[in-house]
Amino acid sequence: MRFSILASGSRANCVLVNSGGTYLLVDCGLSQNQIVDHLAELEVKAHDIAGVLISHEHSDHWGCVESFAKIYGLKVYLTFGSAKARDIQIDNVSIIEITPQNKIKIDDIEIFPITVPHDAKQPVQFILSDTKVSLGFLTDTGRITPFILEMYDSLDGLLLEFNYDDQMLQHGKYPNKLKKRISDGYGHLSNRESIEFLRRVNVRELKVLVVGHISDNNNTLSKVTELLCEIGGEFQKIIVQKGKKTGWLCL
Ligand SMILES: [Zn+2]
Ligand SMILES: [Zn+2]
Repeated sequence: MRFSILASGSRANCVLVNSGGTYLLVDCGLSQNQIVDHLAELEVKAHDIAGVLISHEHSDHWGCVESFAKIYGLKVYLTFGSAKARDIQIDNVSIIEITPQNKIKIDDIEIFPITVPHDAKQPVQFILSDTKVSLGFLTDTGRITPFILEMYDSLDGLLLEFNYDDQMLQHGKYPNKLKKRISDGYGHLSNRESIEFLRRVNVRELKVLVVGHISDNNNTLSKVTELLCEIGGEFQKIIVQKGKKTGWLCL
């Protein structure tokens, strides 16, 4: 399995995953042209994509999914709540309902949608596996639940959000209501919460850790880098900021 981050952050999220002949997009928060251009750099055509997984309805994840899927005839997989929030019909042809905690398989890749606490209708995050390795996505998560700890143990790859620094958020310019929304358990993971999570799960199998969904206003690259140095570990650590992408990362 390999994957490439096309975008990760408060404005746009989109990841391409490949195993065998199967290509999947996880979230679709960029414009159509941006996605097509990024895919071309990775030598992948939009028509090659077997499905688009949508974690929840927020625009940084939803982006152009409706028009993109229509133009290229792609299947979109999402929860009932996400479809409902965007007022689109689940018709079992191009829009397919996924149920949290129920595994599905798209060609060579198995997908496990996992319920996370976040301020959307029915948000999920994903663990993708093939016969050899598993890759977890954990962003847009207000707090680490016991279920998350159990499910995200012993992964080979992980995209984890380090959304905000507690002090920067509390002393920053955001109105109190927004500060509360981000930090009240249904918003995002802080640097401190993500580090704590990494200390609690087994990371012995981990080969690649990508740190993403970093706030533009309430975090800094140096804070994230400093924390990542503290945790040690043998795995490759990659930080993806706004407007940055990666090439193929292999598990
Ligand atoms: Zn987001
Ligand atoms: Zn969100």
